[in-house]
Amino acid sequence: MSREVLITQIQRFAVNDGPGFRTNVFLKGCSLRCKWCHNPETQSLSAELYWRRRLCVQCGACLDACPQDAINPPISPEEAQTEGSTYHKIILERCDMCMKCVDACKYGALEIVGTPMSVDEVLDEVDQDRPFYDNSGGGMTISGGEPVVHLEFVNSLLDGAKARGLHVCLDTSGFCPWSDLEGLSKKSDIILYDLKHLDSSEHERMTGVPNKLILENLSKLLEKGFEVWLRIVVIPEYSDSFEYHERVAKYLAGLPGRLGRIDLLPYHDWCQDKYNWLGRKWPMDAYEAIDPAEVDPLMDPYEDEGLNVTLGGSGFENKE
Ligand code: SF4
Ligand code: SF4
Repeated sequence: MSREVLITQIQRFAVNDGPGFRTNVFLKGCSLRCKWCHNPETQSLSAELYWRRRLCVQCGACLDACPQDAINPPISPEEAQTEGSTYHKIILERCDMCMKCVDACKYGALEIVGTPMSVDEVLDEVDQDRPFYDNSGGGMTISGGEPVVHLEFVNSLLDGAKARGLHVCLDTSGFCPWSDLEGLSKKSDIILYDLKHLDSSEHERMTGVPNKLILENLSKLLEKGFEVWLRIVVIPEYSDSFEYHERVAKYLAGLPGRLGRIDLLPYHDWCQDKYNWLGRKWPMDAYEAIDPAEVDPLMDPYEDEGLNVTLGGSGFENKE
């Protein structure tokens, strides 16, 4: 029997992470730290706590329940409601994730992020939407975080999905040993692959890791004929210039195999609440969301190279 891993969310009826209707399974744990990460709750391997300040009535029950004295003491209600307040900030060095505070909160202000699930539990949940997959060409997308961090679990998940006849997309950064990626790719129908930046120094500045391994793995995937859909988030002052996309398009056209498609994804900041709930600062505070209309012209260089490019990455966009 497969061991359990922490799942942050099983998202049903997703339409931007592979063909048709997808059920996205988000595994907790990632080897990168992208500053624009839209799922910060998937970065840490450990369970975490969300605190929704707007739901909190400051009753103090969680403080009383905490055996580690790991929750900052109450302050005045006025101060507690201000942005950046330390009220209820969990002192992580003391917290042992016993979750007693979550049980004590009667107002739903506290939530555990990360539910341990086995392969069979995940697949049973994914299987519930099988009629939608059959009608739309959809299936399961394994995402995160970085799925390859949980190599053994994801291998078992892919085996189980194949046994049940489920279509599977693997959503990966590609920052992993080739042997791991190749093994998982052989069991997947489509690899959703991120290109975060072509320049290694820029890549490292914004994600914490260089891009050499990622680019090498992308090239190997294409050389071996795997179906790869590349995703490029268009980020202000980072990857939003026409010249940059001309360079990327030329680079991709020169790879030793053809990409199934390239999705240009406008950067957005809808994830700010999650950072607040985790008690973290949104690293992209200075940047507003990009209007999709601004991204539209950036498709031209890819089309000029004969590449299949979309804006937004809908799983239905290319279906006639
Ligand atoms: S999870 Fe446990 S130790 Fe951590 S803050 Fe809540 S009650 Fe305290
Ligand atoms: S128990 Fe819930 S409502 Fe009460 S102070 Fe803690 S988080 Fe706020």
